[in-house]
Amino acid sequence: MKKAVFPGSFDPITLGHVDIIKRALSLFDEIIIAIGVNADKKSMFSLEDRLNHIKETFKDESKIKVVSYTGLTVDLCKIEKAEYILRGLRNSSDFNYEQSIAQTNSSLANVESIFIMCSPHLSNISSSIVRDVIRNGGNYTKMVPRSVML
Ligand code: ADP
Repeated sequence: MKKAVFPGSFDPITLGHVDIIKRALSLFDEIIIAIGVNADKKSMFSLEDRLNHIKETFKDESKIKVVSYTGLTVDLCKIEKAEYILRGLRNSSDFNYEQSIAQTNSSLANVESIFIMCSPHLSNISSSIVRDVIRNGGNYTKMVPRSVML
């Protein structure tokens, strides 16, 4: 059984994340969307809200599980018996950042990182831009799944 962990902050989940997850579904038997909880990082949306946004978005998708975790992503992979970490790539800055993390993860554990290139029309979307638009009262409906608006 091929299982992948898709880790992130998802503060909030965006259409960019949804696109990567949907396109990865044909590659894996199960995708575990994992919200990393970092005590030093203040989020805009509570953990409960972030879990609900993701669960609601994928409520009809039996191959998706949603969890939160603290600590190393590779430790979560061991607990979930996942051999793969899934990540999305938007641009060369994502690549540079992801390269060192993927290399560290593979030296820490026997976990392979799999990257999916984002769809061109979604490459401008990031959770931090969505948060900025929200803070400044802008319209963010075209950047996030409907569950974030509820
Ligand atoms: P992190 O805090 O770990 O960067 P994010 O929630 O911001 O977590 O992102 C999780 C994953 O989703 C990362 O691999 C990131 O590159 C990817 N991602 C974020 N936005 C997009 C997008 N618009 N298109 C494709 N992938 C994206």
